[in-house]
Amino acid sequence: MRDVDAPVDPRSAWDLPAPGAMPVIAELEPLVSRVLAPNPSPMTLDGTNTYLVGAPGSGQAVLVDPGPDDPAHLAAVEAALAAREARCVAVLVTHHHGDHAEAALPWATRFGAPVAAASARVAGDDGRVLVPGERLRLAGTTIGVVATPGHTADHLAFRVESGAVLVGDHVLGRGTSVVTHPEGDVTAYLESLRRVYDLGPSALYCGHGPELTEDPGAVLDFYLAHRAYREQQLLDALGEAPATVDELVARVYAGYPEEVWPAAAQSTRATLDKLRAEGRIEGSDRVRLA
Ligand SMILES: [Zn+2]
Repeated sequence: MRDVDAPVDPRSAWDLPAPGAMPVIAELEPLVSRVLAPNPSPMTLDGTNTYLVGAPGSGQAVLVDPGPDDPAHLAAVEAALAAREARCVAVLVTHHHGDHAEAALPWATRFGAPVAAASARVAGDDGRVLVPGERLRLAGTTIGVVATPGHTADHLAFRVESGAVLVGDHVLGRGTSVVTHPEGDVTAYLESLRRVYDLGPSALYCGHGPELTEDPGAVLDFYLAHRAYREQQLLDALGEAPATVDELVARVYAGYPEEVWPAAAQSTRATLDKLRAEGRIEGSDRVRLA
């Protein structure tokens, strides 16, 4: 296999909290607090991040990605609302995965607030389906709705007035995200990364892992370079011999724990779909260069 240089993650030089060391409740800036859900795993990292967004003194807050419907997490969210002297006026959801959306409908009912999401199923019968480009006037502030499909087809990011962007699973606080298969889409994912880059975010508040404040643009550059690197690794491996997806994953992700291989296989299948659409590879069970 030709040695392609792996792009360097700029966060390796940053002073980020160690895995497991994030506080349960953190005020990230006057507009935004974060509550960490107690669901850590190899896929959810430290756990799901739930965000509260609202102007200080407005008495209101928007909940973004309520996360798992867990009593301890609910208690922490209610404590964070109380600390802001705010009541929840809306529940926004970045995408339909359960680690972000499970509590949306039950908690919205509890708070008497509507759910808003890109998917009608997540928003529920009394909710609102969001359209990219919308600007939501809520909790004394404005929240911009940004299309970020790729991880899933329905993925949205939310830009707050400070310039920070709540990115859900589009960008993670540690490592890289997964382009799910068959729902995700690598080409859309790359476009979404550039779309967030073009916003010039002051910070990225991720669905999992710590906040990225030092140089958000450098992280987005790294994500783009990382996807290009994975694509080149697949092409290089196929240049030596046709291979199955499992063989490609075992090779490209040899240095990673096997518990992340199923997710890696999804990103690999999604990348192969892109290369197939571009006419660069062919075959399905056993893939070869075209
Ligand atoms: Zn997630």
